[in-house]
Amino acid sequence: MRKSTVAIVGRPNVGKSTIFNRLVGERISIVEDIPGVTRDRIYASGEWLTTTFNVIDTGGIEIGDEPLLVQMRHQAEVAIDEADVIIFMVNGRDGITGADEEVAKLLFKSNKPVVLAVNKVDNPEMREEIYEFYSLGFGEPFPISGTHGLGLGDLLDEVVRHFPEREQTEEDDETIRFSLIGRPNVGKSSLVNAMIGQERVIVSDIAGTTRDAVDTPFTKDGRDFVIIDTAGMRKKGKVYESTEKYSIMRALRAIERSDVVLALIDAETGIIEQDKKIAGYAHEAGKAVVIVVNKWDTVESNEKAMKEFEQKVRAHFQYLDYAPIVFLSAKTKKRIHTLLPKVLQSSENHAKRVQTNVLNEVIMDALAMNPTPTVKGQRLKVFYAAQVSVKPPTFVVFVNEPELMHFTYERFLENRIRDAFGFEGTPIKIYARKRN
Ligand code: GDP
Ligand code: GDP
Repeated sequence: MRKSTVAIVGRPNVGKSTIFNRLVGERISIVEDIPGVTRDRIYASGEWLTTTFNVIDTGGIEIGDEPLLVQMRHQAEVAIDEADVIIFMVNGRDGITGADEEVAKLLFKSNKPVVLAVNKVDNPEMREEIYEFYSLGFGEPFPISGTHGLGLGDLLDEVVRHFPEREQTEEDDETIRFSLIGRPNVGKSSLVNAMIGQERVIVSDIAGTTRDAVDTPFTKDGRDFVIIDTAGMRKKGKVYESTEKYSIMRALRAIERSDVVLALIDAETGIIEQDKKIAGYAHEAGKAVVIVVNKWDTVESNEKAMKEFEQKVRAHFQYLDYAPIVFLSAKTKKRIHTLLPKVLQSSENHAKRVQTNVLNEVIMDALAMNPTPTVKGQRLKVFYAAQVSVKPPTFVVFVNEPELMHFTYERFLENRIRDAFGFEGTPIKIYARKRN
């Protein structure tokens, strides 16, 4: 089910990133594993009681060297566009400033629920001073202290209360949800349009202000598909949409909600560093991945050229060795019919469960073929394996000592499992666990 999103807005230095870090807690480290996001921590997953949600620190989105007020306007717009609930943060020590009033005006015009947080209220005596903030027009101000972690519970109770009720549609296992990611101009919008026809996309764009309306459903050969975040792939022309952090955030959100991610590459310009970084997000998230080489019309198309390009892709995207590669042209629609079958197959493999007895036969054959490694005189013993989950398929291998399971041996087992069951298009995870 889709998570709700909270955005933190406010002028600089009120404590947005301090609160962001508190809300996302140790979960931030998950995000930090993703290449490139380490320094761009503006988007992460947070948790309160039984609810998980996404948090955006809009203060991290800087647009060129625009003046402060312009920056703040864009940041408020991001919050209004992306969030279900907005935390408007002010500084209890400064009182209301002109900049606070500017932000208030923008937020007031949006239809989004706004919860007012008065930060830097580090001690109870200071609570008397928060009443002036009622005049901003967002109801009760919530006193908090980012430094001391005070008041966050009450604030989050109020935030969660405003989360929209979710439809259960995303739990529907029959529908294949996919997104397109790639750097600007690789042809994401062209490919969406080629797949479903121009009008359809435009219609769904107008459909409403809720973000669900930017997902585009369609049916092909009796199967239901949904393209996630169609609007995010199209250029809407807002200033902040061209900033790198914003587009990364948008891609991460789309990936999170997808079963399958199409990682687009431009055949005309070739593979660049940014392509690898973007595709890396999908891999890290454990999603099924199809590599799409677009603009194939610009290349002399023959078997040899395809083989050569494929080799290049394999060399650059080694961690995606499971991903099928599709060559096509969104512009001429050539070979475009080869795409959906791969999306479908990858999605099915992503959700595939294998039989435990067959799995164990495969593992035992593998052990016979390639004896387990020995470290300092101690040999790895593998007892049995089980698939513990899907999306992606995850296996636990019970062993005498998990530390003896070397990366290379794990990789060997993974390949044997892949050969036996055909997991094209999906990452699989293998964990070694000590048998008790
Ligand atoms: P941002 O620009 O809104 O993201 O603000 P930061 O989170 O970077 O915080 C700005 C400054 O305020 C930093 O020096 C923080 O240590 C400080 N700060 C944040 N929260 C509190 C708080 O609750 N009390 C006090 N006294 N200082 C705080
Ligand atoms: P996005 O930024 O990833 O959404 O990319 P667009 O779909 O806007 O495409 C960027 C540019 O590439 C546009 O000028 C498209 O006409 C062009 N383009 C997209 N797909 C193809 C293709 O398959 N072949 C060629 N030659 N050009 C393409």
